[in-house]
Amino acid sequence: MTTDPQAPAALRPPTRPGGNWSWILLACPHCGEQHIHGAPRGAQDNGGHRIAHCRDRDRPTGYYVVPATQPTPEDAA
Ligand SMILES: [Zn+2]
Repeated sequence: MTTDPQAPAALRPPTRPGGNWSWILLACPHCGEQHIHGAPRGAQDNGGHRIAHCRDRDRPTGYYVVPATQPTPEDAA
């Protein structure tokens, strides 16, 4: 069994009242695209393993969401 890679992501607060926190992957380690995952523990969420959101569903795999040390492009918005 292989070990899934780490996927640096930025933790995002809710964009609307009552909304959910989310993780914005900078770049998927599998397909290079940006994926979004829920952060059920909000500001205290520390990531963890997720099933990959790649469009290529023929590759069921995953990664470990880890807090990113660099800003995402969205930080400039
Ligand atoms: Zn992907």
